[in-house]
Amino acid sequence: MVDCAICLSRDGYDSQASRYENRDADLFDCPVCGRFAASRNALIESLSPENPRLSRLLRAVLSHRNRLKNSRTRNIDVIMTYDVEKLIEDSPSLPSPAQQAVNAIRFIGEQIQQNFQPLGSLPASFQAFVGAPTRQYALKLVRELSDRGLLSFVDSSTLSNRYDVSQVDLTLGGWERFEGEKRGEFASNVGFIALKFGDTVLDPFVTDIIKPGIAEIGYELIDLRDVSRAGVIDNILRAQIRDAAFVIVDLTHDNSGAYWEAGYAEGLGKPVIYICERQKFDERKTHFDTNHCTTVLWSLDDGRGFIKELNATVRRSLAI
Ligand SMILES: [Zn+2]
Repeated sequence: MVDCAICLSRDGYDSQASRYENRDADLFDCPVCGRFAASRNALIESLSPENPRLSRLLRAVLSHRNRLKNSRTRNIDVIMTYDVEKLIEDSPSLPSPAQQAVNAIRFIGEQIQQNFQPLGSLPASFQAFVGAPTRQYALKLVRELSDRGLLSFVDSSTLSNRYDVSQVDLTLGGWERFEGEKRGEFASNVGFIALKFGDTVLDPFVTDIIKPGIAEIGYELIDLRDVSRAGVIDNILRAQIRDAAFVIVDLTHDNSGAYWEAGYAEGLGKPVIYICERQKFDERKTHFDTNHCTTVLWSLDDGRGFIKELNATVRRSLAI
């Protein structure tokens, strides 16, 4: 048993480590952060507990990202010195406390849904799934959610030296919140747009017309270029779609990535609004799986009319 190279086992959960295949790297299995590998160089230098530039907060970000990655794929990337340096340079923040609370409800709800029994305890990984800086902070959120009547638990801190909870369950109010969040009702005031990048017509149309247009109804519209940072792009993409209030998908180029993102968002129950350039739609339609869906058509010569219809569609789908 060793200290985890990411969280340094500060919350008391030892990690296992072994040589990663025949590479110059170690494979870790941490109850908090999950499975990951790190190069020997990174372990000695940037991930070292002695590195003051890799703050506790940034370690929590790394832990959160690794958990998201673990929950989606069995592939293990080796964390290199470069990756840690990039993280320090970008200095991303953890999800906001409000978003952490949403993540906590989601995590607890998904666990309970497996057999509809209260959770005997919250796993060591809870803080990393939630994106909380420490376990104690994650447990504080649980207490506050309980104060708001969204969940119930039994205080089990008398059974051990530290504060902890057991028999965690969602109340009916908590389940409503869980379901509502999946539909995007409690998501941020951010919408996500999926599109083909690098198109000389669409790119300026998105920047100059669609984004400012959506801002008129109080939503910030982002695409993957606004959020791509060091880390695993497809996980960031999933998280962005999950946390978005709605997703707009441009089908003008029959871009397979955009279709995938639409399917992922539909599967989560998010409102998905399709848009397409009018001439392309009239001449060649869109893919058969989506051509029964409402599609708002755009053309360069009527940006204003398009925004009016798009915003009305967004409002209708969000019931605002
Ligand atoms: Zn760890």
